Amino acid sequence: MTERDLKDIFIKLKKKIVNDFKGNINPSNLNCVKIQVSGFTNKLKSVYPYRGLKDIPAFYEHEERTILFNKDLVKLLDRDFIINILYHELLHASSFRKIDKHKDKTTVKSGFYTQIFKKGKKINYFKLLNEGVIQYFTNKKTGFVKDSGYQWEANRISFLIEDIGDSILEKLFFKEILKGLKKLFIKILIAQKFWLS
Ligand SMILES: [Zn+2]
Repeated sequence: MTERDLKDIFIKLKKKIVNDFKGNINPSNLNCVKIQVSGFTNKLKSVYPYRGLKDIPAFYEHEERTILFNKDLVKLLDRDFIINILYHELLHASSFRKIDKHKDKTTVKSGFYTQIFKKGKKINYFKLLNEGVIQYFTNKKTGFVKDSGYQWEANRISFLIEDIGDSILEKLFFKEILKGLKKLFIKILIAQKFWLS
């Protein structure tokens, strides 16, 4: 795939996501998202302290509203894989809620995920839950791609939500309007401690 193809897919997927989650999604969260193709090295500095960056195909920077895509992997990955990755990253973007910036503490909330950056350290809450839900939706809307990230978590989510259903999961994830149910959901997760890491 060429970088141009990648950028065309990126634009099409933005529209697809707005359509796939109509009513739950705020399109302005997606309209402002940019994509940047760059060479990843372990030295590439991110706002966040990522490690082993050169092996990661892409990640999303909330503060920059930008998906950074690993230049070396663009030509190696096939179309389905790239669609799966971009869809996943765009769901991070579209589930953005807020950033609170204080002198020595920044809190970023998106989807079920809370990240706190304090004195050079990053604390994650519900990261794997968030990644699992994102990959679950990504698989449903674009198709399962072997070896794309967080498949184990996505698989767990499909069991976890059997009783809840997709439409409620979408509302919980994007809108946080069903607070009571969210509490219930989190109670189940706390019982299965894995999701807290
Ligand atoms: Zn992710």
